[in-house]
Amino acid sequence: MQISQDRVVTLQYRLFDTQGQLLDQTREPLAYLHGGYGNIPPKLESAMLGKQVGDQVAVTLLPVDSFGEYDEALVREEPKTLFPPEVAEGMVFQAQDPQSGHTLLFRVVSLSGDKVTLDGNHPFAGMTVRFEVEIQDVRAASEEEKAHGHVHGEQGHHH
Ligand code: ZN
Repeated sequence: MQISQDRVVTLQYRLFDTQGQLLDQTREPLAYLHGGYGNIPPKLESAMLGKQVGDQVAVTLLPVDSFGEYDEALVREEPKTLFPPEVAEGMVFQAQDPQSGHTLLFRVVSLSGDKVTLDGNHPFAGMTVRFEVEIQDVRAASEEEKAHGHVHGEQGHHH
C-alpha cells in the first residue's frame, strides 16, 4: 500500500544537522496520519507521498519548514524565587507566550546569582535539518482517526 491521503504511516526517523551530526532519533516507531493534518512538517509529508513499506525518505528542511527560526524574544530572565529550589540547567517549564497565548516549553539555559535564564525556542530552532525516514507500515485510517485528525492505537493517541 502506498502513502496517500488518509493513510496511517508508521515510521522511524533519524535527524541530522548539516554537518551530519545525529540530533535525534525515534526509539519507538511513530505513527502519523497522512494528508495535511499538520502532524509532521508539510515538506516532509510531501516527500512521503507515494512511498511504501521499506522505502527510505531523506529530506533537508530549512528552519522555517521544520523547527522554526530562532527567536531572541523567547529568551527570558526571571527571578530565581519563581522556581523550585532544585532548579537546574536543562530543566523544562511550561509557560504561556504573552504574544500568541500558546503554551510553550522553556528550557533553563543558565543560572546566575538570583536570576534564571530561560529559552522558549525549540532545541533545534534556527537549524537546517535532515530527516532520514524509514517506512515500516502503511494502512488505511479509520473514520474516527480521520475525524480526529490523528492516529489512534498503539503508536497513536490513547483516549
Ligand atoms: Zn482521537
